[in-house]
Amino acid sequence: MLEAKLAKKNNPHHKTVVALTESVSCGGRELLVIGGPCSVESMEQMEETAAHLGAAPVQALRGGVFKPRTSPYAFQGLGVEGLEILSRISRRHKVPVVTEVMSPDQVAAVAGHADVLQVGSRNMQNFELLKAVGQQRKPVLLKRGLSATIEELLLAAEYILAQGNPNVILCERGIRSFDTFTRNVLDLGAVVVLKQLTHLPVIVDPSHAAGKRELVADLARAAIACGADGLMIECHPVPEQSVSDARQALSLPDMVELVHSLRPIAEAVGRKIAGERTKVQLSVVAPPADLAGQRALHGEAARRPPACGR
Ligand code: PEP
Ligand code: MN
Repeated sequence: MLEAKLAKKNNPHHKTVVALTESVSCGGRELLVIGGPCSVESMEQMEETAAHLGAAPVQALRGGVFKPRTSPYAFQGLGVEGLEILSRISRRHKVPVVTEVMSPDQVAAVAGHADVLQVGSRNMQNFELLKAVGQQRKPVLLKRGLSATIEELLLAAEYILAQGNPNVILCERGIRSFDTFTRNVLDLGAVVVLKQLTHLPVIVDPSHAAGKRELVADLARAAIACGADGLMIECHPVPEQSVSDARQALSLPDMVELVHSLRPIAEAVGRKIAGERTKVQLSVVAPPADLAGQRALHGEAARRPPACGR
């Protein structure tokens, strides 16, 4: 920790607020909730997600286009085509977008389309990538490695800060342990420790920690209760059909309900969830004509009983 001189807190009140856009930030009183699918699959999928999540509201949308998959034969993401989908959705819905960057040579393209560059768990100690995202100014969402210590996470953040980019958000997303019932073990103790050690904002991704959609909402609420500055949660118009991480994806109505359930918890710990956007605003977001069929399909899925056994 001693060596993370830029990441560490100088005094108990020292905190950094990272601005994603002029109106969305992370680390202040208002919590940042990021929602969206594991992978960007199509314009229709992202349009449906953005239109629906405006009502939550979520403050940012996520969706991977360069996917770090365990198997080389699994879907690797839409690449540049996916980046273009994200930036169109971002402009159309006036919502910032977060997406993963996997190598230094992707940094310029991702920074040209996205508002936040995600460095995934598997790349937390890809030092050349850390230096590359440190050499540009867009915020970086740095996810804790699968078996990284808290100190290693802070030193990874230090690489980015040392290159001159002060806009770093840390993300606890579960670590490997012996029990395979959950995909990973959500280390909320690390959130409490990080909030004491560093001035950087810390958010929690309960989706990759749990690996099962029925566990996500309770873990999300616990994360806010223990002081996290926000959440990143995977959700999909038709969760069962998600091309990646289907088992952990929430439906869009369940995601909206989850965000609403955070409000009293946020208030209890002195935080705030952004105000609900009105239905009127949601309905003025007219879907492109080619979405009619897709919407009918998704509407049907939304009427199925919720996937979380509530
Ligand atoms: C993701 O956010 O889609 C992802 C791959 O997460 P992680 O790097 O935490 O596994
Ligand atoms: Mn995922």
